[in-house]
Amino acid sequence: MKFRMWLARVMAGRYGVDQLGRALLWVYLGLAIAALVVRPLYYVALALMVWMMFRIFSRNIYKRQMENQKYLRVIGKIKGWFQLQKNKFRDRKTHRYRTCPYCKATLRLPNKKGNHTVCCPKCNKDFQVKI
Ligand SMILES: [Zn+2]
Repeated sequence: MKFRMWLARVMAGRYGVDQLGRALLWVYLGLAIAALVVRPLYYVALALMVWMMFRIFSRNIYKRQMENQKYLRVIGKIKGWFQLQKNKFRDRKTHRYRTCPYCKATLRLPNKKGNHTVCCPKCNKDFQVKI
């Protein structure tokens, strides 16, 4: 209980740990292990640790939140890409994935050979697709 009160006093007005902070910790641990083999990597790991600590104790909460938002956007895009590859593989016999030339939406189309006119459900524009 005393430790928690002490911690609450120390961390008052400070940012703390977020998703980016946790990611930095994992990358740090990975690099620290890799540094056992490749020594210079430890300096990179150390820099990440310093950055992580700086973020945790930072009082500029708004700026740290913006950083975290940016991180989540990038990670979301990467995860989305992997999810798409997974779905493409799962549907490889029944469907084809195409990008709408107008709004860049990814469309899942039935795998029927030939030329088709597709109406994008997102932007309602027609375009030609060859499968
Ligand atoms: Zn579209």
